[in-house]
Amino acid sequence: MEKITLPKGTKDIGDPEIFIWYHVENIVRKEAAHFHYIELRTPLFEQTELFARGVGEETDIVQKEMYTFLDKGGRSVTLRPEGTAPVMRSYLEQSFHIHNPRMKYFYMGPMFRYERPQAGRMRQFHQFGFEAIGFQSPAADAEIILLADRIYKKIGLKNIRLEINSLGCKKCKPQYLEALKNFLRNQAAQFCRNCSNRIETNPLRVLDCKNASCQNILHSESFPIIQNFLCDDCLTHQNHVIGILESAQIHPVINPYLVRGLDYYIKTTFEMKTEELGAQNAIGGGGRYDNLSDALGVKGIPGVGFAAGMERIILLLQKQSESKAFFQKPFIYLSPLDQQGEDVLLRLSIVLDENSIPFHLDFSDKSLKYHFKNAQRMDASFIIIAGENEYQTKTYTLKNMLSGEQKVVSQTTLIGDLLEAYQNVKNT
Ligand SMILES: [Zn+2]
Ligand SMILES: [Zn+2]
Repeated sequence: MEKITLPKGTKDIGDPEIFIWYHVENIVRKEAAHFHYIELRTPLFEQTELFARGVGEETDIVQKEMYTFLDKGGRSVTLRPEGTAPVMRSYLEQSFHIHNPRMKYFYMGPMFRYERPQAGRMRQFHQFGFEAIGFQSPAADAEIILLADRIYKKIGLKNIRLEINSLGCKKCKPQYLEALKNFLRNQAAQFCRNCSNRIETNPLRVLDCKNASCQNILHSESFPIIQNFLCDDCLTHQNHVIGILESAQIHPVINPYLVRGLDYYIKTTFEMKTEELGAQNAIGGGGRYDNLSDALGVKGIPGVGFAAGMERIILLLQKQSESKAFFQKPFIYLSPLDQQGEDVLLRLSIVLDENSIPFHLDFSDKSLKYHFKNAQRMDASFIIIAGENEYQTKTYTLKNMLSGEQKVVSQTTLIGDLLEAYQNVKNT
């Protein structure tokens, strides 16, 4: 029989890469706790309607990329392609807008989109994100960006550019879209087919086109810049956000071509970019989505959020740092020579655990030579050997794998020796 392989666009994440995931996930959880954004775990699948309405019928996500199927009860369900609509669904479903309207959430987990897989883009991919719902103030936009910036820095990522734009509001966005449509219509014939199809339905998406000739037309002098169309309210909002960021030593670059593919974004939109991952240059982004709740049946709930792709962050981190730094170390390799040794070391492992000393217990069906090699391969800091002899004399043979020093220690002093040695290794 043929072996069964992974579905296309998915990946097993294990030793050693998983330690980098832990590193990132731990920082996200810690920062979320500091800023008091509370985790919300929504289901991996939702009613298809949620994304059709909450993400937008005209988006690529809804039209081409969703994993949608009928369950055995004949209901149309969809594996979540993004995290914001489910959070807003939960918020509205629990009527927080009535009794506790100001909520801060974070989420982390797998998302699903049927896309052409490439480095940093998977069909099952992973995101973490933050949502501040119920806040009108531009300071909420700034806090979200600040939080994202803190996380990237603590993860250890370098050379990240923050780009920011405003998409206007209900008052000023329609005028901008008209001007943009006029500009696009005038040169409709020169755009790629995708773009010319979008001029009437979703003109902002044309700005996202990766096609070089489309980008050339867009970067002409007659391109209407949204900054020139913003109403006073939107301009004040934008300046306030940028002002707060500047005072925190974060310097965003205004990019008038920066738009979000999702329909519900207004005012602040932003993206974190890197030059080091080729075409997949965005490693996170977000913005204000005051229109999302309307699409889900409750009018006028403001919100601002941010989402980041784990795969790209981890790719970038692997490029920028020595990935060995993330591995769980040091640890003690326990090597029993026989059944009595197994008995002794199994009991010792409980004492090690109580002293928070990580260990790997192997078993006695291999030679001592094998265990030494294996401990070396696994990068163990110490190896402890025990057999019948050690059982009788109540001693252990302890070998420091780094210095090569080997000594016989008594049971009563072992933990003290180990803790001291362990601290020394840990600090180097
Ligand atoms: Zn406006
Ligand atoms: Zn195009």
